[in-house]
Amino acid sequence: MTVDTKEDIKALLSAEGDRMTDLLRRGLQVKLDHLDNCVHLRGLIEYGNVCEKNCLYCGLRSGNGNVARYCLSDEEALGCARLAHGLGYGSVALQSGERTDPAFIDKIEYLVREIKKIDGGSLGVTLSLGEQSEETYRRWFEAGAHRYLLRIESSNEELYYKIHPRNDKHSFRRRIDCLESLKSIGYQTGTGVMVGLPFQTLDHLAEDLLFFRRMDVAMVGLGPYIPHPDTPLYRHKDIIPSAKDRMDMTLKMIAVLRIMMPEINMVAATANQTIDPQGREKAIAAGANVIMPNLTPGEYRESYFIYPDKACVKDRPDQCQTCLDIRLAAIGHRILYNAWGDSLAFTKKNGTKSQ
Ligand code: SAM
Ligand code: SF4
Repeated sequence: MTVDTKEDIKALLSAEGDRMTDLLRRGLQVKLDHLDNCVHLRGLIEYGNVCEKNCLYCGLRSGNGNVARYCLSDEEALGCARLAHGLGYGSVALQSGERTDPAFIDKIEYLVREIKKIDGGSLGVTLSLGEQSEETYRRWFEAGAHRYLLRIESSNEELYYKIHPRNDKHSFRRRIDCLESLKSIGYQTGTGVMVGLPFQTLDHLAEDLLFFRRMDVAMVGLGPYIPHPDTPLYRHKDIIPSAKDRMDMTLKMIAVLRIMMPEINMVAATANQTIDPQGREKAIAAGANVIMPNLTPGEYRESYFIYPDKACVKDRPDQCQTCLDIRLAAIGHRILYNAWGDSLAFTKKNGTKSQ
């Protein structure tokens, strides 16, 4: 299967029936050949849902008045990290709405330093806190964070502005600059897109995959778009592909990307499981190798309402873990506990040791 040109990629993304099954099998085989059957965990801490931005698809947007806003206390956030360590997760991921005020920046720096004190720095730290200045990214990196996820959402500028307001706060150019800053600082940098957006075409999706390769990122998170009723993009919900088609396209994107970039880390996003009960396992079986189980304290989970019917909102972390172990064993995979699970693409290039 050749993946050199946009036409090659579009042909693969068009696969259906037996051809699609072959593609997904190939994605899995490439992963097993270059990596292994291990799945890495990032305990997800949804730190807060206050957001300065107004992305047209997201329930946390500042313009949505129907959200009870929260921010975890230090003790709650650090409790989640200790829980992750106790459960044997090698890493945590701190995610939140975008805030750029000095109090927030200081607080994240403090929390990262405190998380790194747990058991002598045994937890890896991924951040997903949106667009920040280069100085902020550097401060958080120096505090001990080593991976950063910032989805480009769509690599096509025209489509980007159909799903974001066209203003300085939502600049496509700035988002790319942020990704460049993160890479130059030394983060394992991840990006990604939503699949099945209104107005998105096969060309856009093929361009997204080429964008990931051109940016030479270490990690990618791909997931289906899920319309949220309290957002402006919801009015286009009738022109998007069905849930099954969004799921199938996400799986094909994962498989093609695994063939294109065999050694990167790829997240099986929770959104997959939201539109298909087997969604995360299907993503793993198509080439993804990272899962982010939710560790956010129960009382806040429903307020981190990015999109409706989020999977596992009511599960306790220990239940989630048993369920994951069983589900992954059923597809010939196993969780690698007590390891950071760094991106091989990154560690090889930078001559660092994989942890
Ligand atoms: N604020 C940070 C940012 O935007 O990078 C991190 C949190 S944000 C909620 C994390 C991701 O949620 C976004 O990158 C976006 O792709 C995804 N997301 C938001 N709304 C979504 C929706 N309606 N359907 C699927 N994914 C969505
Ligand atoms: Fe805020 Fe991120 Fe949602 Fe955009 S995607 S509104 S930046 S939380």
